[in-house]
Amino acid sequence: HADTALYGVKASGRNNIAFFEPQMQVVVSQRLQLETELRNALIAQEFELHYQPQVDARTQQIIGAEALLRWQHPEQGLISPATFMHVLEESGMILEAGHGVVLQACGFIAHLLKQGLITADSFSLSINISPRQFRQADFVARVAAAIEAQQIPTQCLKLEITEGIMIHNITDTVEKMNELRDIGIRFAIDDFGTGYSSLSYLKRLPVDLLKIDQSFINDCTHDSNDAEIVRAIIAMARSLKMELIAEGVETAEQLAFLQQQDCHIYQGYYFSCAVTSEAFCTLLGPSPGPGNVLQQNVT
Ligand code: C2E
Ligand code: MG
Ligand code: MG
Ligand code: MG
Repeated sequence: HADTALYGVKASGRNNIAFFEPQMQVVVSQRLQLETELRNALIAQEFELHYQPQVDARTQQIIGAEALLRWQHPEQGLISPATFMHVLEESGMILEAGHGVVLQACGFIAHLLKQGLITADSFSLSINISPRQFRQADFVARVAAAIEAQQIPTQCLKLEITEGIMIHNITDTVEKMNELRDIGIRFAIDDFGTGYSSLSYLKRLPVDLLKIDQSFINDCTHDSNDAEIVRAIIAMARSLKMELIAEGVETAEQLAFLQQQDCHIYQGYYFSCAVTSEAFCTLLGPSPGPGNVLQQNVT
């Protein structure tokens, strides 16, 4: 390494720093720029939630939704979390952004109830909680306050956490989850099967629902290993008395496979991607005529 640098110095006739500088500077300054833009976006309230329906295939009813964060960039338009979530996480801005998600989601539930588009026991909205956000000392109080402020039934809100939450202090995690469950909030394990969690850990977590990761659903109709994994997850959820949602269902074949395995709740582009709050209300609203809800695919 040092040799290369030295060679670079001689060959280019520049000093060490100049030799490495250009690429590093680009990376660092792009990252700083994104961070600054994100800070401004928080202030300007450019983050909004989109909502992806969760559907019961047996009745074709929307029984819930997942709230997904989007950045409405003034010039670049809608930006998805893959671009910015890691920066929010690493910079700590996820705490503020995440709390905004809690507030916006509770407000949306209140709106849906007020409009008569949902009832408290037929619909729940899931939000994603990052490990860092969950570890906040006052996380439980903040969520409780948001629910209180909107006067919504707590069973309308679900929290999605990933297996990664277990890396840190499992006792503290379980305690917080129990406090939230005591007020009626339910938990889902997101991206299930991609983490490293052992079944004994899973058993200790007061979780109501598993979301089968989309990577397994993707290939379950043409890869026998993935099909077996999906079957195993379904069997396990059943024996642990957990509900199940299949994520990333894109085709009729995938849905048929899941239904054969007795998994009926799904979320995926086959029904709809995440849509704006207005479009979601339209999906929930009185259907525009006879015909299959499945055909109202918003993309
Ligand atoms: P996730 O929680 O697993 O969310 C599901 C992701 O799969 C969403 O991507 C959704 O748009 C996408 N998806 C749904 N159905 C299909 C399908 O049929 N095919 C394919 N290919 N994809 C599908 P999105 O919205 O880009 O979000 C990506 C991730 O960003 C989320 O994964 C979640 O981990 C994170 N995220 C999103 N919103 C929030 C948030 O408010 N807070 C936190 N902490 N994380 C969030
Ligand atoms: Mg999720
Ligand atoms: Mg997921
Ligand atoms: Mg994911």
